[in-house]
Order: sequence, then structure tokens, then C-alpha cells
Amino acid sequence: MPGLTTGAAAPKQTYAACSGCSLCLLVCPVWRHTRDLRYTPHGRAKALQHGATIADIAPSVAACTLCGACEPVCPENIGLVDMALELRRALPSSTITENLHTRMQTEKPRELVIKSAAATALLPGMALSWNQVLLARVRAALGNMGGIAIANDHGADIALALETGAIVPPQRIEHFLAPLRQHKTLVVADGLLLRHLRAWLPDVEIVSLGAALSSRAPVRARLRAGDLYVVEPRAYHADYENLVTHYDNLRAETGCAMNLDLQRIAISTTVSSMPRRFGWETAADREQLRWLLKGRNVCRIVIENEEDRPAFERVCMIPIVHVAELMADEMPPAGTPS
Ligand code: SF4
Ligand code: SF4
Repeated sequence: MPGLTTGAAAPKQTYAACSGCSLCLLVCPVWRHTRDLRYTPHGRAKALQHGATIADIAPSVAACTLCGACEPVCPENIGLVDMALELRRALPSSTITENLHTRMQTEKPRELVIKSAAATALLPGMALSWNQVLLARVRAALGNMGGIAIANDHGADIALALETGAIVPPQRIEHFLAPLRQHKTLVVADGLLLRHLRAWLPDVEIVSLGAALSSRAPVRARLRAGDLYVVEPRAYHADYENLVTHYDNLRAETGCAMNLDLQRIAISTTVSSMPRRFGWETAADREQLRWLLKGRNVCRIVIENEEDRPAFERVCMIPIVHVAELMADEMPPAGTPS
């Protein structure tokens, strides 16, 4: 993908390495809402260092939105997202996680599409796969890229299992990965899935949907001052070192504002998180979005994550477009075969 590189990461540390510096608090949306140290990486790490059990920290583990903002700021290089996911898998199973696990074990696997000439495959994620019109726009906005296939198994059940802490049967992961190995590049909409695909498929280039779309010159040409460009935080923080420059350049080139703070950490909308996946939006979510918009003169909100649309619509009247919709004028007429 032009302009995007992947670098070798230093080995991550565990909670045992936490020094208690509190830097993670500054970027954590859960800390911002609760002001309760127990609900932060600092709190979880110190509790575990002093012998707390998983039951003691269960509410804190469940509250984490997995936005990943704390990871790039941690001076001890602790794998904070992986640690939170590991703890979530260790929580007592719930009806949700048990049902998910059973379904993944018993469901008849989808037919494998092994042969595809496309160099690139798109994994659209839940929100996009439910919106075929937007999905067509995404595909058109990505351009040819050596041919793009839409994965027929896009792993939505695996993404949900990762989110909730359900155990994913190894055969389900293998069935999901087998057809993806033939592609050179995967464009992935779900930030949590992207983080895992990097580890599962080290020989495949894994690019976030937002970075792929915003690399396209026709998309960049349509961004302007007055836009608030909302970066999807999970994928961004999973590839922070590489993407900081990408988004800095995008901002300098177009004049748009972004949901990035002074350290270039993405301010999360908190929309992609466990409770919100099940439709349990809270007043804290609306407060976070209002805070994100506060003091800004925004003419248009440009979102990378389609899940952000209804959330912004609840708190403002500003026009909202998905980044792929910036190229709507170049779309083929409805019904034209792609
Ligand atoms: S991943 Fe996000 S919500 Fe979770 S502890 Fe880190 S900053 Fe807070
Ligand atoms: S930033 Fe890292 S080292 Fe500092 S308190 Fe948070 S988890 Fe601990």
C-alpha cells in the first residue's frame, strides 16, 4: 500500500512491568468518564501486582473499550490490549460467550473460496456487511489495487468472540484464515480483528480500511478544512508508529481536523466496544462525543468506522459522510455490474 510501511515491533511486556506512572490515564476514555483508578491499566496492573484475583478486577476488565490508546503512551511497552483481552477470556463465561463458542464449534462451515486471482481481499466487518450500498462505495473508492475480492467469510463471529472474551475454536480460526493466505494484501475494517490478523498471517500485508481509503489520491482531494476526520482508534493504535506519519501528512495536505490529541493519540468515540456492540449505548458515550466536538468549528464529519454514524447523529446535526462516500460522484450508476 503506497505510503504505508510495517515495522518490526519490540517485544511487549506484561502488567508486571507497570511502574505506576499513570500516563495511560491521560488517554483512557474509561478514566475520563469514571475518574476511578481501578478502571485503568494502571489500576489493573497494580491490583494484579498486589495479588488481586480476576474476580476482583472483573468490572474493570469488562469496562475497557479496547480502543488501544493506552498502549503507545505506556513507557514500559506493556501489551495493554493483549493483556486486557487475555483477562477478558479469563472471566467466568457468560451466556453470550458460551453461545458464541458453541455456535462456532457446531455451525456448518461456509464453503471455502480458495481460488481467487485478486491480490487484495476486503474484510468489511459487521457494520459494512449490513450496508451493501456503502460496501459497493468502499470497493469503488479503493480502486483496482490489483483486483479486490470481498471475503465470503469475513470473521464477524471471531471479531465478536475476541471482543467478548469467548474462546475461538482453533478449527474455526484455521477455516477463516485458509482462503485469506492466498492474498497479498488484506484490507480490514474491524480494528480488533486487524490486530489479530497481523499475528496470524505474518506474510500477508494487513492494512486498515481507513488507512487504505485515505491513501487514495481522489479521496484525499475531497477532504478540506472544516472537516473533522474521525480515525478508527483500534486499527490506528495497533499500527501507531507507522500511521502517525500517514495521518500527519493527510492533515497537512488537506487542512482537515482530526480526533487526534497533541501526542497523536486517537480520541475514541467508544462506539466499538462490548456494550455498544449489543446496542447498550450509555450517557457516557454521548458525553465523549460531545467532548470530542466541543470548541471545534466543524462543517462535516468524515468517519472511517460506519458504527460512528448513528452515534454522532445522536449528539449533533453536522453532516456525516463515510470516507468512501467522499467519492460518491465517481460511483457507477445503481445496477451497473462491478
Ligand atoms: S484500551 Fe482504551 S479503554 Fe482500555 S484501558 Fe486502554 S485507553 Fe482505556
Ligand atoms: S502507562 Fe504503563 S507503566 Fe504507566 S501506569 Fe499505565 S500501564 Fe503502568
